[in-house]
Amino acid sequence: MDISQENMKKNLVGDCAQNNVFFQAVQEVLYSISPLLNSDDKYNRYAILERLIVPDRVIKFKISWLDDNNNIRVNTGYRVQFNNALGPYKGGLRFHPSVNEGILKFLAFEQILKNSLTGLPIGGAKGGSDFDPKGKSDFEIMKFCSAFMTELHKYIGPRIDVPAGDIGVGAREIGYLFGEYKKITSSYDGVLTGKPYMFGGSLMRPEATGYGVVYFTQKMLELEKKESLVGKICAVSGAGKVALHVIEKLLQIGAIPVTCSDSRGMIYDRRGVDLPLLKELKLQNRASLERYLEFHPDAKYTPVSDYEDGERAVWNIQCYAAFPCATQNELSEADAKNLITNGCVSVSEGANMPSTHEAIDSFLNHNICFAPAKAANAGGVAVSEFEMSQNASMQRWDFDKIDEKLKLIMEQICKRVALTAKDYGVEGNYVDGANIAGFKKVADAMIAEGI
Ligand code: NDP
Repeated sequence: MDISQENMKKNLVGDCAQNNVFFQAVQEVLYSISPLLNSDDKYNRYAILERLIVPDRVIKFKISWLDDNNNIRVNTGYRVQFNNALGPYKGGLRFHPSVNEGILKFLAFEQILKNSLTGLPIGGAKGGSDFDPKGKSDFEIMKFCSAFMTELHKYIGPRIDVPAGDIGVGAREIGYLFGEYKKITSSYDGVLTGKPYMFGGSLMRPEATGYGVVYFTQKMLELEKKESLVGKICAVSGAGKVALHVIEKLLQIGAIPVTCSDSRGMIYDRRGVDLPLLKELKLQNRASLERYLEFHPDAKYTPVSDYEDGERAVWNIQCYAAFPCATQNELSEADAKNLITNGCVSVSEGANMPSTHEAIDSFLNHNICFAPAKAANAGGVAVSEFEMSQNASMQRWDFDKIDEKLKLIMEQICKRVALTAKDYGVEGNYVDGANIAGFKKVADAMIAEGI
């Protein structure tokens, strides 16, 4: 198959600007799996690339809802069901004004390989809406979620497609979505994961992605014969579900996370981030990080408007390990250079594709231990699959059992990625290792299932 960039972009990925981020993800994977493609012609013969980079279906729908002033509001909803070779479609829902088809295609594509790496029976999907939850009342969120599910319920099911949360979608939204699904179908199905514990959610789902990132990093540092995170300064971006739990696990193991950030600015607290305060500000009050200074006047707040030349202040401090956990493309080449200059040894992606291509190249060229999102942040979807298992068997697992299983899965992913990289002649390159290992399993299943 001719995988020349222009051809692929035009014919297979689509040409509109919205698809750029999707193209970036596909391009990275195709480049990275070339050692596998060169070693076995079957992927070419079965046209696996052509088949894998086109979603099974993209569902797009209108959502009309009433705000608190009885104005009719209209948003667009999506579900990209990308590939179900390994199991039911699985992936989060994102509510954010930046959501469009291209971003969701990128996220769903990444999800296929991530889910494959977990070794669990789940396919890849993603969905969401351009609805902005910021500034909406609780009642407006509920009405929007109900309207969203009125359409979405037609396309999902416990053996078909099981959505979860993502940016802007947490336990509150999943609860409202689940309530509406139940009302429409009269069925108490495990059709969503990330549910509150009281009606079928799994313990540890909120912590899973963040804790998993740290477990992966610990294993990677061990395999690469670097010093552990204990006692080390860490830079974390974001202040959402992933970032908070990366910070929590870092504190538990004796590391010192000194930063966090949101879309308005960043906090640097050299004594270590005050996690209870951060949780109160972000989880309970959805407040700006600037309010952190009311309690810790010694900390430093830098608003986004003071960031210089696209360099984010969060990546311009001395640290041993960095954890980008906010959003895509939040770590540029300039940021990567700042981290490297400041002595950073390891970078682990908690967010999906937070580092640009150029930043990743810089890390790899400087032998930084780099853990790509599809491997490092797979803990969330792994525990989501545990939630599906618990729902299907009407059982409840305790926290320690789930934590143990999560740690094991993250360590297994790390070892498999490292070993695959070695087997294909790119030892130490966790990007290529993750892409090859994730792709191979899905591709082999697609071949075995026929066209
Ligand atoms: P949340 O909505 O809980 O948090 C997102 C955080 O990122 C918020 O602090 C938000 O700030 C900040 N943020 C958003 N946009 C920007 C920006 N442009 N610049 C700086 N900060 C920004 O989302 P999650 O923590 O769930 O998700 C974060 C990332 O992790 C996403 O890429 C997601 O896809 C990925 N991920 C999440 C998983 C999960 O289990 N939740 C699983 C795997 C991946 P503000 O509060 O101001 O909006």
